[in-house]
Amino acid sequence: MRLILRKTAYLMKTDVFASRHIGIREEDLQHMFKTVGVENLEQLIYETIPNDIRLKTPLALEAPMSEHKFLEHLQNLSEKNKVFTTYIGLGYHESLTPSVIKRNILENPGWYTAYTPYQAEIAQGRLEALLNFQTMICDLTGMELANASLLDESTAAAEAMTMLYEVRSREQKKNNVVKFFVSEEILPQTLSLLKTRAIPLDIELVIGNHETFEFGADFYGAILQYPGKHGQVNDYASFIAKAKEQEIKVAVAADILSLTLLTPPGEFGADVVVGTTQRFGIPLGYGGPHAAFFATKDAYKRSIPGRIIGVTKDTDGNPALRMALQTREQHIKRDKATSNICTAQVLLAVMAGMYAVYHGPKGLKYIAKKVHTSAATLADALEQLGVYQINTSYFDTITVKADATLVKPVAEKNEVNFLYSDDQTISIALNEATSLEDLQKVVAIFAEALDKDVIAIDVVKDLSAIAPVSQRTSPFLENVVFNSYHSETEMMRYIKKLERKDLALNHSMISLGSCTMKLNAASEMLPLSSAQWGNIHPFAPIEQAEGYQTMLKALEVDLNIITGFAGTSLQPNSGAQGEYAGLMVIRAYHESRNDSHRNICLIPASAHGTNPASAVMAGMKVVVTKTDEKGNIDVADLEEKVAKHADNLAALMVTYPSTHGVFESSIKHITKLIHDNGGQVYMDGANMNAQVGLTNPATIGADVCHLNLHKTFAIPHGGGGPGVGPICVAKQLVPFLPGNPVIKTGGEKAISAISAAPWGSSLVCLISYGYIKMLGEQGLRHSTEIAILNANYIKHRLSGNYEVLYTGEKGRAAHEMILDCRPFKQNGIEVTDIAKRLMDYGFHAPTVSFPVAGTVMIEPTESEGLAELDRFCSAMISIRKEIDEASAEDVDNVLKNAPHTLKMVTADAWKFPYSREKAAFPLEFVSDNKFWPSVRRVDDAYGDRNLICTCAPIEAYMEA
Ligand SMILES: *Cc1c(COP(=O)(O)O)cnc(C)c1O
Repeated sequence: MRLILRKTAYLMKTDVFASRHIGIREEDLQHMFKTVGVENLEQLIYETIPNDIRLKTPLALEAPMSEHKFLEHLQNLSEKNKVFTTYIGLGYHESLTPSVIKRNILENPGWYTAYTPYQAEIAQGRLEALLNFQTMICDLTGMELANASLLDESTAAAEAMTMLYEVRSREQKKNNVVKFFVSEEILPQTLSLLKTRAIPLDIELVIGNHETFEFGADFYGAILQYPGKHGQVNDYASFIAKAKEQEIKVAVAADILSLTLLTPPGEFGADVVVGTTQRFGIPLGYGGPHAAFFATKDAYKRSIPGRIIGVTKDTDGNPALRMALQTREQHIKRDKATSNICTAQVLLAVMAGMYAVYHGPKGLKYIAKKVHTSAATLADALEQLGVYQINTSYFDTITVKADATLVKPVAEKNEVNFLYSDDQTISIALNEATSLEDLQKVVAIFAEALDKDVIAIDVVKDLSAIAPVSQRTSPFLENVVFNSYHSETEMMRYIKKLERKDLALNHSMISLGSCTMKLNAASEMLPLSSAQWGNIHPFAPIEQAEGYQTMLKALEVDLNIITGFAGTSLQPNSGAQGEYAGLMVIRAYHESRNDSHRNICLIPASAHGTNPASAVMAGMKVVVTKTDEKGNIDVADLEEKVAKHADNLAALMVTYPSTHGVFESSIKHITKLIHDNGGQVYMDGANMNAQVGLTNPATIGADVCHLNLHKTFAIPHGGGGPGVGPICVAKQLVPFLPGNPVIKTGGEKAISAISAAPWGSSLVCLISYGYIKMLGEQGLRHSTEIAILNANYIKHRLSGNYEVLYTGEKGRAAHEMILDCRPFKQNGIEVTDIAKRLMDYGFHAPTVSFPVAGTVMIEPTESEGLAELDRFCSAMISIRKEIDEASAEDVDNVLKNAPHTLKMVTADAWKFPYSREKAAFPLEFVSDNKFWPSVRRVDDAYGDRNLICTCAPIEAYMEA
């Protein structure tokens, strides 16, 4: 029996969240059905999804909560988290988010609903914010080049290890030099992640003491922690100098705040500097999200992972920002890939950069000094108790020798967490929030535990415990932007000024195919502001995180139900990391069956670039299979390749519905074929929005999938991150789900860590949890149906104007469709011209040239209403008319000159052969809600030729 769709009348109830999440109203449906040519939703779904993969019973999820109930529920749940004063450190510190940043960025859809800034002309605000971030990182680390964030410190460290591997000298490559030295001072989660990433590349990790390390020609690189995991600040200059003699390149994982007082690694010769910016105003959030950084030398600019923001100029020669080397990044170099990072941590990088803008160099130094002198004052007081501190030079973390079995119970009674490395070693990492009373309390805890008289601390003494060689003397953040906005009024206006330059979901529909830009509901976002959720350290004892544990567990269970699988790991911080995690799990599974020779990964030609990149990172060999002329997997070609590689087949990676927006009816045949030949099926879940409640990965025969919670499950894109890319797996793969070295998580035979934190970015998991809890089975399923209806509605409205490239057997699109723009070349119009012209109509372009060059891919999602769909269609149809008017001979037309800025349109001179009105207000609705791109079309090639990726130095402003 097929699932019968229920009435949609429930959408009229004001206390039903689905009626707010879904944009289509009950009364719109008949008109839409008529346009699409169906009687009802059931018919549309029947014609879209092959019958043999339809779910037979509704998902067994709990009944939906109203928004009001949900907020109450989360408030109650949050109270189960015990917010202790936490000095655990290990790369995570309590920090104070300035309210002006919290309110105007973290809680502001103008920032959090934006997409990755591919369309630079309508993204200058976040591009500037990211340029600030890069400048801040370069200045603080003393390096030449920084990217615009990575997922977490440990991932950044692993990226450093692999980048240095890639840039080995010819000699080293020839001699197969594969050893990488890891200081024993490295954070435990980083070590775990380095292990994961080293295995498939056959990199050999050698863990040891940097002082006694024997340099040899069999090493290509090394990584050091600065300060070390227990707070010791080492002078690494001689280590690095010796490494250089042996052509060993050195990465340093550094604490960002300490670098305001400590000699930056760039000044003692580091080749790469990585770290996290969490303590620059980002909540702990039980592990994330936080923005990591990656800084290196200019010489490695073509190898740096992640995205770089660069300076270029627009058509009029005015300065403009863009994502540099974008073409390189967009087509992640498939099987030559060294990194699969595309979604990063943009929102958090923006916040961390703004923290530096707000505080400026003096403010940052003030904060760092306060933390440092507090640590020194505490050490001094403890010494008076007879508790001795063992770091010879330190910034914020002191390590004392004392009986942990006595101290720990007293500390916990006082709601304080320290780091207990062993029974006799206790580390205390102080932070921006540490007050005099907090210091007093720590002393009191030790006094009580060790049965001594309390020593009073009256003031934070002006002590220094940083060895002279490690004291920073160079200035930093001298640029105008870091020295201008230190009052709240100025700061608020600066943030607003940047926000106004960017088009996000708070302005109009963003129909990016494969990206699922749906509503990020306020009720889903509100809990992120609460300290009860924000202020939990990822390595806090698990009993203190009961609220989180309950929520994460429930989310895992719901995702199991939705995908039909047996287990979920929330650890991966992006879809691409999920792919990598899933493939590593498959790898471990084959190994456990003595099948370690299985290393072939089949990937259809239409796959997202991250698929082959992840497969390569997992040590697999990519074999590309063809797609037929209808865009489907070429089954004959697949069968041939399966037969050829049967003995070594590890996995097939398949996106479903396909990247062409089609539910391929051969899917069950395909997955069976792989299983019959000993392989596992990896389903790329980026298109899950077309499946939820109607079919699922288990039903199509997959063994593992990642979900992009930042696509299907309502986490906002944040301008290019955060992301959460959990993997859901079938029973046989559950034992291998990734673990963590500090807090137990994952399967019984867990692979080592994929992300630094045990549950990845727990804080934003609240959003997806809310999404599922408030929609329930009916709302989720209905969302999928309406997403498919909306896509097919657009398809029909645009027919005759644009050709849809691929459809299912009954002529239906899934939740997205590809429009062919290649025929317009005869009029001299490229797909980019259409993308830029859409800006003049107030729209962000759909996905351009993926998965087919010269096309756009449109995905409206269920959250858009009929009026917005109609405005978008009107814009596309109007553009089609403009294309017809264009000619290849004369490029001075409204498309080639797009986008049009306010400055152009209001200039005294107007030199174009069409009217100002046509340029800026081409349709009636545009003037009602006009969005002005802040620059003219940016020059991509110029930017790549002249890579500048930091703010101009202060002199540049003085000349101007
Ligand atoms: C978005 C996407 C990915 C990668 O996800 P990230 O979170 O950006 O790493 C992979 N495959 C497809 C088809 C996608 O659309």
